[in-house]
Amino acid sequence: MEGTRRHVVVVGGGIAGLAAAWHLRHEGAGLAVTVLDGAPRVGGKLRVSEVAGVPVDEGAEAMLARRPEGRDLARAAGLGGELVHPAPVGASVYSRGALRAMPKRQVMGVPADLAELGRSGILSPAGLARVPFDQILPATLISSDVSVAAYVRARMGGEVVDRLVEPLLGGVYAGRAETLSLDATMPHIAAVARTERSLLRAARGIAGDAPKDAGSVFTTLSGGMGALPEAVARASGAEIRTGVMVRELRRTPEGWRLLTGPTRSPEVVEADAVVVAVPAPAAARLLAAEVPKAAAELARVEYASMAIITLAYPRAAFPEPPSGSGYLVPPVEGRPVKAVTFSTVKWPHLADADPGALLLRCSIGRLGEEYLLQRADDELVALAMGEMAEVMGVRGLPLDSRVTRWGGALPQYEVGHLDRVARVRAAVAVQPGLAVCGAAYDGLGVPACVATARTAAAGILAYLAERREGEWREDHPAAGAR
Ligand SMILES: Cc1cc2nc3c(=O)[nH]c(=O)nc-3n(C[C@H](O)[C@H](O)[C@H](O)COP(=O)(O)OP(=O)(O)OC[C@H]3O[C@@H](n4cnc5c(N)ncnc54)[C@H](O)[C@@H]3O)c2cc1C
Repeated sequence: MEGTRRHVVVVGGGIAGLAAAWHLRHEGAGLAVTVLDGAPRVGGKLRVSEVAGVPVDEGAEAMLARRPEGRDLARAAGLGGELVHPAPVGASVYSRGALRAMPKRQVMGVPADLAELGRSGILSPAGLARVPFDQILPATLISSDVSVAAYVRARMGGEVVDRLVEPLLGGVYAGRAETLSLDATMPHIAAVARTERSLLRAARGIAGDAPKDAGSVFTTLSGGMGALPEAVARASGAEIRTGVMVRELRRTPEGWRLLTGPTRSPEVVEADAVVVAVPAPAAARLLAAEVPKAAAELARVEYASMAIITLAYPRAAFPEPPSGSGYLVPPVEGRPVKAVTFSTVKWPHLADADPGALLLRCSIGRLGEEYLLQRADDELVALAMGEMAEVMGVRGLPLDSRVTRWGGALPQYEVGHLDRVARVRAAVAVQPGLAVCGAAYDGLGVPACVATARTAAAGILAYLAERREGEWREDHPAAGAR
């Protein structure tokens, strides 16, 4: 490495770390960037492997297309031609013993259209009758952050929380409405709720602005979202080192020193600047020595675990082919499976890959349901098969199956999350050449992770530019007099 060439180390090669590396390399001319990841491969929660010969995602299966960051990164990595959209089919909710169409006009489960909600049959007659009280009740004052459940229940009643909001939050965060933050998980609703008395009106306004079909809302890659990390790693031109767990991060007079590898044969890596792009518990451990305030905050971020069971059935196993993209199950139904995606219906490119097989993915596990995951893989497959037999009438055995366990995978944005993140960032900002990014901060979707990475990279580049200027002034003391 050239003597004057700046070296930035990114800890964590998930999509956030790789996106940070990409931005550092493309916006910071001549920077040497190294990505260190403890796992045998990069990608973190993005991973693809074959089921019945078809590449199917094990983790994230799509990203919001309405936000540009994920799409743009895929294009920059040369995968623009692989961006595909879901079929324009609706989803359902398993409620009150049957599959019922999910209202199209809703915002994270908050209904925006009473008539459509009534037709869906998701709520009981009593639950439905409670919803319009929202329009006559006095305003629900929100001075600071509250839980999603507290606010939505106060406006529309408990059934909207239990049967609509819970399944959606369960799908995205594997979390519970009682603890998740309104400000962090429903920012649009939270903003309008502070000025608008009626939640229904607020949801109507937000839903009215949104595109109508899922086709324009989500996108994925024909080779799977799991194809994105390798492509970004390649396009970044950064040095990628896998199987390198970072154990310690210390400041030095020149920059940062990272201690990696096993305790018996440690390796030291020196850097001018560091981006910490790992989940909150790992970030807390790394920051404990130099940024204890940030570490203490990050250590309090809870994570939910889950498992994805992917099944491939012969099409004939379904008495009737599924017609929607899948369904969500509210916790009040007491069923172990919390969501089912009919992957070959939702994603036409998967159906084209094997027209004889119907691929589906079942998710199990919300926060507090870790006990459901304490089963052998074949038991989890049996649970998923049982769900399909009972709800869809599926008969016979799958052609193939795959179980992916995601332990401690999804950060819980609990009440006060935004303030916590602000405190973490404030503590990190006073450290020269240090930045954090990833799913623990501003959103756990892929585009949000990429956005945090871009911000982190911009902070590091600004720091390095400032340092270069300072060094130049030191070398040319007369320059300041001109
Ligand atoms: C099952 C599942 C489904 C999802 N579905 C979607 C979806 O459809 N759409 C969507 O937008 N999002 C989805 N998400 C969320 C999204 O995938 C994640 O939030 C995102 O990929 C996280 O990226 P990240 O880079 O922040 O972290 P991670 O992917 O967790 O990457 C962190 C990396 O850091 C490494 N690491 C950790 N500690 C160390 C250390 N000490 N030293 C070195 N390396 C370390 C890990 O090995 C890992 O590779 C899903 C998540 C899961 C689990």
